[in-house]
Amino acid sequence: MKTHVKALVVGGGAVGTGIAYHLAKAGWDTMLVERDELTSGSTWHAAGLLPLFNMSYATTHIHKYSVDFYKGLEAETGLDAGFYVVGNLRMAQRKERMDEYMLYSSVAETAGVYHEFLTPKEMKDRWPLLRTDDLVGALYHPQDGYINPADVTQAMAKGARQHGATFERKIQVDGYRWTGSEWIVSVTRMVEQGGNLVPSDEKYEIHAEHVVTATGNHAQRTARLLGIKTPAIPVEHQYIVTEPDPMLVEYRKNNPEHPVLRDADAKWYVREERGGWILGPYEYGAPARFEYDVPQGFRADLFPWIWSGSRRNTCR
Ligand SMILES: Cc1cc2nc3c(=O)[nH]c(=O)nc-3n(C[C@H](O)[C@H](O)[C@H](O)COP(=O)(O)OP(=O)(O)OC[C@H]3O[C@@H](n4cnc5c(N)ncnc54)[C@H](O)[C@@H]3O)c2cc1C
Repeated sequence: MKTHVKALVVGGGAVGTGIAYHLAKAGWDTMLVERDELTSGSTWHAAGLLPLFNMSYATTHIHKYSVDFYKGLEAETGLDAGFYVVGNLRMAQRKERMDEYMLYSSVAETAGVYHEFLTPKEMKDRWPLLRTDDLVGALYHPQDGYINPADVTQAMAKGARQHGATFERKIQVDGYRWTGSEWIVSVTRMVEQGGNLVPSDEKYEIHAEHVVTATGNHAQRTARLLGIKTPAIPVEHQYIVTEPDPMLVEYRKNNPEHPVLRDADAKWYVREERGGWILGPYEYGAPARFEYDVPQGFRADLFPWIWSGSRRNTCR
């Protein structure tokens, strides 16, 4: 393992890997360390939706860049990033929601993001399985869609390596020290023990001019290591994956995949998955998890299914 680098990226999720790719591409001597495997954090679970919709001009530019970047990754790396350009239909139940979309339209036009407005009838004509009777319209991004989070991360990692970056898995960062001219980062090799990931006695120090932390849900611990208190607390989010839906299977015999569907008023997203659907509700009262720290042993674990409809009155 290298002990001196220009940039050390901590965390091998989609974010850290994307940062490592871009630093390496910019010519920086870059190393990424990950305590487990690439994508073993939140990235493992993501539904992969890429909403081009965003009310901020700057973030819209970042989203547009990402969508264009993902489309070119396969040509660059030879790895399929798993990008499904099925479009994104953002539906509105209220006129005020459509007003929000109109306001967004000016941001999108300035940033060069193509979009359309659809009436309920136009939606029903194109996607007859949709129930549109309580909708006033929708914003449609035909160039949007979803991506397989693990595939895109692996493709970015390959691209980063092609640009000279190195990746070290099973290396956990345990401390940072700034000398005034560089960071000295203490790391521990992690090992598998009875299905758990535990620290070994193997310790190293890495010297880096720059450190980027992209540790996702571990942000509180990371901040503490840097002497900062950050109030970032993970919140549970779950989605439902259904069995194949006979109506959808029949429809798909002669039709392309549905766009990613979002109802901003009802607060859920839906997309197709192997003849069935993924339904992701943004729940009222979704509970905070690991309020003070993600346990060392937590990996890509799943929480037991809890539908927050039942806790709506207690956890707002
Ligand atoms: C069910 C679900 C569905 C989602 N759906 C979507 C979606 O459709 N679209 C979307 O954009 N987002 C979605 N998200 C959110 C998305 O998954 C996250 O925002 C994203 O994956 C965060 O990436 P990350 O790289 O910041 O964090 P992570 O993927 O969590 O990566 C952080 C990494 O840092 C490592 N790490 C932590 N501490 C250390 C340390 N001290 N030393 C070394 N390594 C360390 C961890 O092991 C981990 O691999 C969803 C999330 C969930 C849970």
